[in-house]
Amino acid sequence: AKQEGRHSFCFFTPEMHARLARNLQLVSALRQALNLGQFEIHYQPQVSIADGRIIGAEALLRWRHPELGTVSPAEFIPVAEDSGLILPIGEWVLRCAVRQAKAWLETGLAPLIMAVNLSVVQFRHPDLPKLVTRILDEEGLPPEYLELELTEGVAMQNPQGAIDVMNNLHECGIRMSIDDFGTGYSSLSYLKKFKVYKLKIDQSFVRDISTDPEDKAIVIAVISLARSLGLKTIAEGVETAEQLAFLRNQGCNEMQGYLFSKPLPAEQFEALLKRDTD
Ligand code: C2E
Ligand code: CA
Ligand code: CA
Ligand code: CA
Repeated sequence: AKQEGRHSFCFFTPEMHARLARNLQLVSALRQALNLGQFEIHYQPQVSIADGRIIGAEALLRWRHPELGTVSPAEFIPVAEDSGLILPIGEWVLRCAVRQAKAWLETGLAPLIMAVNLSVVQFRHPDLPKLVTRILDEEGLPPEYLELELTEGVAMQNPQGAIDVMNNLHECGIRMSIDDFGTGYSSLSYLKKFKVYKLKIDQSFVRDISTDPEDKAIVIAVISLARSLGLKTIAEGVETAEQLAFLRNQGCNEMQGYLFSKPLPAEQFEALLKRDTD
């Protein structure tokens, strides 16, 4: 069986065929998803650890297809990136999230920062700063209420390019944060040059924070690194009171995770905000 395994990549295996067929199916379904209104955004609260208040929301894309069911973004985002469809889809997410942020700002509830995930394809597109500025303008949202999340892996693929794009966005008043921090091997010298204001500690380190000495050490190091660079920290994937207590003790600023709330449809998020404001 070992022998076979070594050669199998030369052939078109049933698994490869299945994967390709699934990809083709997803691409053609994705192509129509926007027009058919199959996308929705859910919002997950970002909470201040000091006082438990909601200070931000992360926009997370949801896709419900009549036959395929609910497809996870972890599966369809890469397909959307490879096919270029991520550009119109990403623009739609940005527009919706900004519009929602503006609507919440006008309700007089506690002001929120809206965090939107940015794909590598969007990040590399030369018109990104112009596009974001135009959407903010058209929707009437001041730029300081928007934050774009870029993964550490993308930032570090081409750090000099990333510095330039971040500088451009920064000049437009748009904030950036580094997502999945700890997984992408940032060097200190680049981190200093990135115009970011927040590091998001990857959930893979948060998960075993109470039991794994290495994860614990990494989280402590990231928080202290951020503090020395004047950056804020947010921990993602916080599920237990124990994890939260550890993060609070280490001086982490914010948390996001099922412990507080899973990502919610806009109306439910708003209900939570109202409860928070009372
Ligand atoms: P991410 O940006 O790292 O988002 C965090 C993921 O962790 C989300 O998964 C969220 O639902 C999940 N999560 C939140 N709290 C917890 C928790 O306490 N425990 C656990 N186990 N998970 C938690 P989701 O929504 O399935 O999104 C997966 C990934 O898909 C995101 O990872 C992001 O990379 C990508 N994605 C989602 N929406 C968009 C989008 O609009 N544009 C782009 N480019 N990527 C997106
Ligand atoms: Ca994110
Ligand atoms: Ca993340
Ligand atoms: Ca992630």
